Amino acid sequence: MEKFKVLITEHIAEPGIELLKKQPDVEVTYDPELFRNFDRILEIIPEYHALITRSGTPVTEELLERGKKLKVVGRAGVGVDNIDLEAASRRGILVVNAPTGNTLAATEHTMGMMLAAARLIPYAHKSLKEERKWERKKFMGVELAGKTLGIIGFGRIGSRVGIRAKAFDMKVIAYDPYIKKEKAERLGVELVDELEELLRRSDIITVHTPLTEETRNMITKREIEKMKDGVILLNIARGGIINEKDLYEALVSGKVRAAAVDVFSKEPSTDNILLDAPNIVVTPHIGANTFESQTNVAVIIANQVLAALRG
Ligand code: NAD
Repeated sequence: MEKFKVLITEHIAEPGIELLKKQPDVEVTYDPELFRNFDRILEIIPEYHALITRSGTPVTEELLERGKKLKVVGRAGVGVDNIDLEAASRRGILVVNAPTGNTLAATEHTMGMMLAAARLIPYAHKSLKEERKWERKKFMGVELAGKTLGIIGFGRIGSRVGIRAKAFDMKVIAYDPYIKKEKAERLGVELVDELEELLRRSDIITVHTPLTEETRNMITKREIEKMKDGVILLNIARGGIINEKDLYEALVSGKVRAAAVDVFSKEPSTDNILLDAPNIVVTPHIGANTFESQTNVAVIIANQVLAALRG
């Protein structure tokens, strides 16, 4: 019997590779640096039945055309923007991803960023550790308890942030026109019908939608003006949902007390305008970076690819 040959061109966590290797009908080639050598991938892809990548391998029409035996492309993670989906579908090649693997990692990062922004923890840390100053009065924060958290996008991550926020004694409201009211009610969260109402009522606002034509620039100067003075804003979802220039200006004016941002409209980026804003906590898109989440993603994608190969 011919074995299914699986090519992995980027780093994935060991448990996912092990799972594939122990299958009697599968042969695995794991070369985590191969994504840097596109010509080599083109050369060897004709012998493979499955390709597993992250975001670094350009899965182009040319690659898919040469992969005559390819049945499935697995993206170990969420975004599939490096894969030509249309070309894959024309050739009957299945594309699978692992959107649930990093839900908890992103949820917990959001909670960490919320606390960090509310208490300006990174600023206090820098003042004491790097500047050797003892500035107790300078770092006056706000408490989460009793505040209203507005969650835009009440999906996997948004709803889990809501559950955790309730444990902090926050009142939680959400705006998501695509979910049923009962889902929110079951979790003790009030679903509002209009974005405007959420903007008006929330002390802290966090976005957890995908980046789509509809959500790009969902929060601009116009929306920020409708918010409470001293609101805290979080974007751990995708760069561009909150307009970066408008957020910068609102932080400078003090309309927005503090912000926390993990994702940027252009990545990687070390010169984004937000890096110059006051009272902002930033991280370089590490929302999904936990050992647990990388293991989850690798195991989920291995199982998805196996299911696709075996039909
Ligand atoms: P999900 O699909 O489970 O939830 C998204 C929710 O947004 C859905 O309930 C959907 O109905 C809602 N939504 C869509 N358009 C909307 C709109 N116009 N207004 C209001 N709500 C809208 O997705 P998820 O797994 O919860 O992920 C949410 C976001 O977090 C995604 O953008 C994802 O890429 C991002 N993410 C970031 C990291 C990170 O490293 N920072 C990690 C994981 C996920």
